[in-house]
Amino acid sequence: MAGGSGQLIGVLGGGQLGRMLALAGIRLGHRFRFLDPDPSCPASAVGEVVTAAFDDDAAVDRFCDGIDAATFEFENVPLRTVERVARRVRTSPGAQALAVAQDRVAEKRFFRDHGIRVQAFEAVDDAASLAAACGRVGVPGVLKSRRMGYDGKGQAVVRSPVDVAEAWRRVGGVPAIYEAFVDFRAELSVIGVRSAEGEVRTWAPGVNVHRGGILARTVVPADAAGVGAEHVLAAERAVRDAMSALGYVGVLAIEFFVTDEGLVANEMAPRVHNSGHWTQDGAVTCQFENHVRAVAGQPLGCTDRRVPSAMVNLVGDVPPIDALLAVPGARLHLYGKAPRPGRKLGHVNLCAADAVVRDAQVRVVEALVAESWR
Ligand code: AMP
Repeated sequence: MAGGSGQLIGVLGGGQLGRMLALAGIRLGHRFRFLDPDPSCPASAVGEVVTAAFDDDAAVDRFCDGIDAATFEFENVPLRTVERVARRVRTSPGAQALAVAQDRVAEKRFFRDHGIRVQAFEAVDDAASLAAACGRVGVPGVLKSRRMGYDGKGQAVVRSPVDVAEAWRRVGGVPAIYEAFVDFRAELSVIGVRSAEGEVRTWAPGVNVHRGGILARTVVPADAAGVGAEHVLAAERAVRDAMSALGYVGVLAIEFFVTDEGLVANEMAPRVHNSGHWTQDGAVTCQFENHVRAVAGQPLGCTDRRVPSAMVNLVGDVPPIDALLAVPGARLHLYGKAPRPGRKLGHVNLCAADAVVRDAQVRVVEALVAESWR
């Protein structure tokens, strides 16, 4: 890329992840185009939007006209749309990684085949195969739809064999996975990035706390009770192995349960991830910038953590903004979305030279968030 003129990068999906990719990439001279069904999607503030459904072939072709590289920020974008784009323009990550991540059974098999531990699981296609899977995997367990699940949606816990029919009904009678319930000490996630040249970097793994299946908080470094250096190293190794196995280009996130026997991989996201938002303010180069660099074929930036950091999500409604802005060390990121129960509207990153100070800041922000979360 000569002259610093930057590239026109196409992003499938115009949600907050697309918005933050552009906010990071514009600084490097790049421009952005999004494909999204909503003309006033969060990314509409930072680039042009081709407004159409993801399966509208003519619109997908218009989206491709003149872009230098493409990526996606929405994991449920149809595979054939990504394949169509990839025939026209360099697209990262590739369709293979997306295919694996879109199907919980393929994902678990991929982990297992690459030496990344997973809990016992079985593919389930009807109530009878669920009953059989409960017998082999054991109860309690969790039934999840194979596809289109996010933030704990499309899931039901099976506590005893009498729950089978109800769980099958709740998950919607769609192809599913039944997996053993994991008695975890903590949830840990790792974010890695791989460049087109095969250069790999990882950010410090974080401890995640969920509320109602939605990420509430990430804390880095991962020094929660029961999480040790061996878990951090295992997480970093897993994301490196997964990226090299897939010939991956871009940011990849893997979420784990920390158990007495070590890490158990839960799922992966072939995109920038909510548990990596802290990197915007707590790392030398954030996940969004490095994803853009990888997609644009540029060298990666240093992923070192600068200070103890945390991220708190704003879900359902936004607390009084002036109160958030008044918290020392707090950096507010809003997505321009209308309030709605269960909807991620923004996040606050908290960074301090000292973890004790960071924790005090987190408590102040979480007290404000407790009033507005719905
Ligand atoms: P997921 O959509 O798979 O990320 O699940 C959302 C959340 O539900 C996870 O972050 C866990 O807190 C919980 N969860 C999911 N699967 C299991 C499991 N097999 N055992 C225990 N908790 C789980």
